[in-house]
Amino acid sequence: MLAGIIDVGLRVAIFAIGAVALAIWYGVRALFGSRSRPGTCDICGNAIDRKSHRISFDGLLRTVCPHCYMRAKRERSRIAWRQHRLGES
Ligand SMILES: [Zn+2]
Repeated sequence: MLAGIIDVGLRVAIFAIGAVALAIWYGVRALFGSRSRPGTCDICGNAIDRKSHRISFDGLLRTVCPHCYMRAKRERSRIAWRQHRLGES
């Protein structure tokens, strides 16, 4: 009788430990998985909470935060203007 209770208790304990380990495993996976999701900027790695922008960068379409998007646009404009000036002279 007592041995049976201990056996059941042991099974429950093993099950509980397994459930907790599984929960931790899924939690860790969710945490690391979120880093590669389109919810983060592909350039600076910051989380995109509001509006994400898509821009082709190094020949790949990337999801970037508004800050990096503006910077990329500014850089592109600067390069375009330099080429325009060179073409004129
Ligand atoms: Zn960014």
